[in-house]
Amino acid sequence: MYSTYIKEFDKNIALLDEQCKKNPGFAAVVREFEMSPRCANLALKHYLLKPVQRIPQYRLLLTDYLKNLIEDDGDYRDTQDALAVVIEVANHANDTMKQGDNFQKLMQIQYSLNGHHEIVQPGRVFLKEGTLMKLSRKVMQPRMFFLFNDALLYTTPVQSGMYKLNNMLSLAGMKVRKPTQEAYQNELKIESVERSFILSASSATERDEWLEAISRSIEEHAKKRITFCPSRSLDEADSENKEEVSPLGSKAPIWIPDTRATMCMICTSEFTLTWRRHHCRACGKIVCQACSSNKHGLDYLKNQPARVCEHCFQELQKLDDQHSPKIGSPGNHKSPSSALSSVLHSIPSGRKQKKIPAALKEVSANTEDSSMSGYLYRSKGNKKPWKHLWFVIKNKVLYTYAASEDVAALESQPLLGFTVTQVKDENSESKVFQLLHKNMLFYVFKADDAHSAQKWMEAFQEGTIL
Ligand SMILES: [Zn+2]
Ligand SMILES: [Zn+2]
Repeated sequence: MYSTYIKEFDKNIALLDEQCKKNPGFAAVVREFEMSPRCANLALKHYLLKPVQRIPQYRLLLTDYLKNLIEDDGDYRDTQDALAVVIEVANHANDTMKQGDNFQKLMQIQYSLNGHHEIVQPGRVFLKEGTLMKLSRKVMQPRMFFLFNDALLYTTPVQSGMYKLNNMLSLAGMKVRKPTQEAYQNELKIESVERSFILSASSATERDEWLEAISRSIEEHAKKRITFCPSRSLDEADSENKEEVSPLGSKAPIWIPDTRATMCMICTSEFTLTWRRHHCRACGKIVCQACSSNKHGLDYLKNQPARVCEHCFQELQKLDDQHSPKIGSPGNHKSPSSALSSVLHSIPSGRKQKKIPAALKEVSANTEDSSMSGYLYRSKGNKKPWKHLWFVIKNKVLYTYAASEDVAALESQPLLGFTVTQVKDENSESKVFQLLHKNMLFYVFKADDAHSAQKWMEAFQEGTIL
């Protein structure tokens, strides 16, 4: 009965909708019923879903109950038997749903999550699923994503085809975009109120498919919300979406992965084993301890005080002043005063501060308007070791960085008067090229593939002439 109920559910809901449209008298009765206090402001469809949710709930309840019973308890055998029946029903339902329609797909996802989560919701449509790598501070981890027309489910694969639900991210206010650096062509950035992160697909095509699917769902979702708020016109909401810059602290920032910055993104002090990386909870940048000595309440963390960088701290204090100009009003307590923070700032405590020439700080590794940027291997030639470095060509100057988010370069070299040629020996596979100055070898470069090497050679070439 349960499996049939699930299988026929979509059809029955459609039938209900159709009859409400055809027969105003019937629609009025349904509405009247929904208005009655026992419905607690929920639609009839919600209650039709209840029997569907019941079996998974029984299963959890009985499993828990059994765990807390000792074997010679009078209830033990009965509970075991009841659990066996419920599991059989659940498995039967799961099997019939394996290649089902949307509703059955939602049920199947709900069954594959550990714990009880009500994935099946009236109006929810399944759109896309797949594994993407999530970049965290130090490593990449596989995560399973399920995209619906109202939310993105972010889960961790556990044993035997099951998933642990990490987060259900609402599409309302979500943003998805490509990284500005072309070199990260498999990546996409997802920003939402609850969580923000960088994901990596297995290819550029797969990345673009996800980007397309998520942006389209965000758009559709926004349109639908406008239909329910007739006071706002489409144009209004459109312009709001475009210009909407959420205030600092209202959304979780993307944490820049540790390996992408070798120096503090504010003071450029180099990170070492003792001079460690910290993340600003407001902007997600990697900064040193001295540049993040303040804490400030952040909206997305329910106003809990959290480590923020110097820049964000000042910005947040400005926002405080705008919102609560009254002195001494509650909720406007400023953590360490600016005076104290500048004292803390002057303590050297292990900071490795080199004097960096201004020329190396004028362009940062993640600059948006370069002619070309990305990782290459570089060698001084003649069997000298290869070094993996980040390069940027901008205004005919080649900048070299240790990592892709560094704010100061290791070297800068104007390219005018240099020559670029491909290295053609049997091992180079069209991936190697060299930079010469007056016929003297300057550096040898190696790209990941021939196509990328070609693009780099063109960018170098363009930099060598006026
Ligand atoms: Zn710093
Ligand atoms: Zn910050």
